[in-house]
Amino acid sequence: DPTKMADWQISEAAEKNMPTPDEWRERLGLEKDEVIPVGRLCRLNFMNIMERRKDKPDGKYIEVTAITPTPLGEGKSTTSLGLMEGLGKRGVSVGGCLRQPSGGPTMNIKGTAAGGGNALLIPMTEFSMGLTGDINNIMNAHNLAMVALTARMQHERNYTDEQLDRLTKMRRLDVDPTRVEMGWIIDFCAQALRNIVIGLGGRYDGYTMQSKFGIAVSSEIMAILAVVRDLADLRERMANITVAFDKRGNPVTTGDLEVAGAMTAFMVESINPTLCSTAEYQPCMVHAGPFANIAVGQSSIIGDRVGLKLFDYHVTESGFAADIGFEKFWNVKCRFSGLKPHVSVLTTTIRALKMHGGGPKVVAGLPLPEEYTKENVKLVEKGLPNMVHMINVIRKSGINPVVCINAFHTDTKDEIEVVRKAAEAAGARCALSEHWLKGGEGALELADAVMDACNEESEFKFLYPLEMKLRDRVEMIAKEVYGADGVAWTPEAEAKAKMFESDPKYDDFATMMVKTHLSLSHDPALKGVPKGWVLPIRDVLIYSGAKFLCPCAGAISLMPGTSSNPAFRRIDVDVKTGKVMGLF
Ligand code: ADP
Repeated sequence: DPTKMADWQISEAAEKNMPTPDEWRERLGLEKDEVIPVGRLCRLNFMNIMERRKDKPDGKYIEVTAITPTPLGEGKSTTSLGLMEGLGKRGVSVGGCLRQPSGGPTMNIKGTAAGGGNALLIPMTEFSMGLTGDINNIMNAHNLAMVALTARMQHERNYTDEQLDRLTKMRRLDVDPTRVEMGWIIDFCAQALRNIVIGLGGRYDGYTMQSKFGIAVSSEIMAILAVVRDLADLRERMANITVAFDKRGNPVTTGDLEVAGAMTAFMVESINPTLCSTAEYQPCMVHAGPFANIAVGQSSIIGDRVGLKLFDYHVTESGFAADIGFEKFWNVKCRFSGLKPHVSVLTTTIRALKMHGGGPKVVAGLPLPEEYTKENVKLVEKGLPNMVHMINVIRKSGINPVVCINAFHTDTKDEIEVVRKAAEAAGARCALSEHWLKGGEGALELADAVMDACNEESEFKFLYPLEMKLRDRVEMIAKEVYGADGVAWTPEAEAKAKMFESDPKYDDFATMMVKTHLSLSHDPALKGVPKGWVLPIRDVLIYSGAKFLCPCAGAISLMPGTSSNPAFRRIDVDVKTGKVMGLF
């Protein structure tokens, strides 16, 4: 009973019967060389699995997204896991792939991203504490590039050209110390490391300059892991990461630093997804966990390719709300992968609708105001346009939307009924789902609606063709997805955009919007469906390894801060058993 037990306790109980790597192998019909055991989990050997099943048709591809959320999250991960459990209860072959959580939020306020209640990913301890090491591998690969850069800058300063040539056959890269783009990474919210000075000391202590740390999951290597097709693609992208600019303004890449091969060496194991389980023992992979602003905010393409070969129904989730997460799933992830989705599940909660209807501000860490826990049908009704807007966004992609009302115990019949009516009137299927409370048993209505929607005709199409120029793409996304009247570029951002548009090299770069997820607009305070506004773009960032151009309609922090009441205060270990307690 999740009203009496914490998530980590539900996980602990469910772990007792969790399939072993051998049991998974048998259940999923895998060969010996397709399963790589790691502790009580295993990785799935992606290359072997794909090679043997290249002629097998893919299963149905289901994405889970949400309406514009409150800062508490509306339960996308919980719904993804609940849907897997519900489909499992219906006896169909189902699995999924979700993101690996970052140590930052896990130890800070938000907690881990294992779902909740009986719609849970297990084992929670491994999942929350580094899993099979992908984030560590990313930190090693990423920080090695910084080691290469800073050592190179010291050597170039200390040696003449002739010495450089004689000692190492190195050409001078002439890095501009004021234009180093890359920083170091660590997987915590460590605000004290946002702005630092490195290389203090003498001639052999590096190069003195300003530097910075970002959270590990903001690394370009994490962004790359989510979108690569295979190891060859990874190796190529790994050499194209821009680390700095030289004194003439040319990019200095990981390839120039001759470090891309070694960086890739850290990642060889990590291109294989890790297999975990739902609390009801459906297979769920965990692979990659990039930011949803400067990256796709989704688990990997590799995970989806494997899942579509292994399961008849494969479920995945997009970070943020449908205007960001689903838009990137639609126009970036599916374009890079070539995969065609069938259904998008729009996670909706009564509390988020009430917020859009004008309810008081919701603050993470503080109790919910009374409006959110007592019946108020009017407030729900006033908030419905946000949901209808998101349904229409999904319909523009040609696939079928299914609204999932993620039930909370405070929701009332009448509140639920108005949501159902509005969803159906907007052309979506709608299901009330109690997976948090009841697991798969509570998600049968959702499972049925999703299967129906999967079996209905759909015709997936992109919002814009790759031939469309960057500024036109942004205009299209702003108007068609966010509901803006247009876009306003600062002169600097427009100059950058023109430069990218004039060079065909950037034509196949993804357009990776940076915008708050707390509003359809760029202003997190504007709820519902804001009207009569223009999207301001103040910069365009480039990630040359990941092949992303990121138009920025808002500030991004690559290093969040740890709050005054972080989760680590409540996490401990039972020293008799070694069990980790207090994760949520
Ligand atoms: P998202 O993926 O949208 O950020 P999560 O699935 O991580 O959201 O859920 C956010 C939090 O809300 C989690 O702590 C989860 O346990 C809790 N939660 C989700 N759905 C429910 C529900 N129906 N009832 C109670 N708590 C829920």
